[in-house]
Amino acid sequence: MQPERIAVLGAGESGLGAALLGRKLGMEVLVSDAGRIKSETKTELLERGIDFEEGGHTLSRLMECPWVIKSPGIPEKAEVVQALRKAGVVLMGEIEFAARFTQGTVLAITGSNGKTTTTLLLHHILRKAGLDAALGGNVGTSMGRLLSERDYPFWVLEVSSFQLDDTLAFRPHIAVLTNITPDHLDRYNDQFERYQASKMRIALNQTPDDTFIFCLDDPGTLEALAAHPVQARQQGFSLFEQPDALAFGQGPIQFKTENSESMNVFELALQGKHNAYNSMAAALAAKALGVRDETIRASLADFENIEHRLEAVLQIGGVSFINDSKATNVNSTWYALDSMTQPTVWIAGGVDKGNDYDPLLPLVREKVKALICLGVDNQKLINTFKDACEFIVETTSMEAAVRAAYGLAKKGDAVLLSPACASFDLFENYEDRGQQFKEQVRKI
Ligand code: ADP
Repeated sequence: MQPERIAVLGAGESGLGAALLGRKLGMEVLVSDAGRIKSETKTELLERGIDFEEGGHTLSRLMECPWVIKSPGIPEKAEVVQALRKAGVVLMGEIEFAARFTQGTVLAITGSNGKTTTTLLLHHILRKAGLDAALGGNVGTSMGRLLSERDYPFWVLEVSSFQLDDTLAFRPHIAVLTNITPDHLDRYNDQFERYQASKMRIALNQTPDDTFIFCLDDPGTLEALAAHPVQARQQGFSLFEQPDALAFGQGPIQFKTENSESMNVFELALQGKHNAYNSMAAALAAKALGVRDETIRASLADFENIEHRLEAVLQIGGVSFINDSKATNVNSTWYALDSMTQPTVWIAGGVDKGNDYDPLLPLVREKVKALICLGVDNQKLINTFKDACEFIVETTSMEAAVRAAYGLAKKGDAVLLSPACASFDLFENYEDRGQQFKEQVRKI
């Protein structure tokens, strides 16, 4: 049953999506934002007849709404959230809200790393199979906005842990959990178990008719599975052949099927072990929908690389430049370094989210000839790696970092931007950091 009116906290992409959908469904909608609302957003709200307030919340008005849709950026401890909970208002996130109004099959992807890649890859396979599949959630357009335009028979959704925190009955038919490694712990009282619990919410309401796809090699996931048993059909993938692995290998990757006919995929468009994982995860999800092996094979081979994720930029004087700006934590940088086959000049640093860099030491010793630190405070990086590579240079601009890297690289080397840190000290976001890297490379 849908309520006659809802309120939406926060006028970002997901808040706006929820508001548009609510309106489309004939609800009265109030958007309430503690800060200023962007003028384009206001214009859109006015055009659609959606009421809004900014610069604070009028609690009495919010409390008149049986459902309040909250943006993932608003933490549980925010005063307004606490007050609404106390008043017994039902609070939910935009994904929870929107998913209640689709007739389609929902495929949801979460994990600490690899969400976007796996989501785009899965969407690519489904489209190639001729299925009318929407792509959205945490990547691209919100589900609410897409659904306010039309329903789709298939929904491929990237879902973050913050979005999962605000789910209640959300039940994806097919759930993919890529991995769980420490990230965003500041939001979870520095408790890894709480972050794991949040990720496991993707499977919380699944039934034995649903499918849960996960990585058998990831200790964070296995631990979480033991603590939060899953009802859905479980399908594991691994780099190694083992009884529980329905998909395994690092290239070729192989898939077992019930009728014992297996499929091998030799050619993967995306390189690196992490992408073998992402390819297996996406392929298992597509197989669970019944997509033909031939289509999966062709899609995994012709997928085009995504910007800012181990993106090959240019070769200059025999030096390859690689943009992995999206690597904002240690685990993703581990995979980037692991996939390097040439001596590497590594550009790293930024806002440290309580990182432990030690797991990178063996790879740095083996592959990195120089570390270019690019951040306001580089001390921790320097302390960790001072004995592991020959040169360490400190820089505070992309221009200086790229110049220093090119100066130290020889023909046959690679320059890799894979920061292991957030970007907010020197850049607007990781996209801006990656764009600036590419601009400076092109200027060499
Ligand atoms: P997310 O959406 O979860 O942030 P992305 O697909 O955008 O993930 O990839 C982010 C970064 O993590 C990339 O720089 C990539 O090198 C690395 N990465 C991608 N997939 C994985 C994986 N399965 N395990 C570990 N690291 C990965």
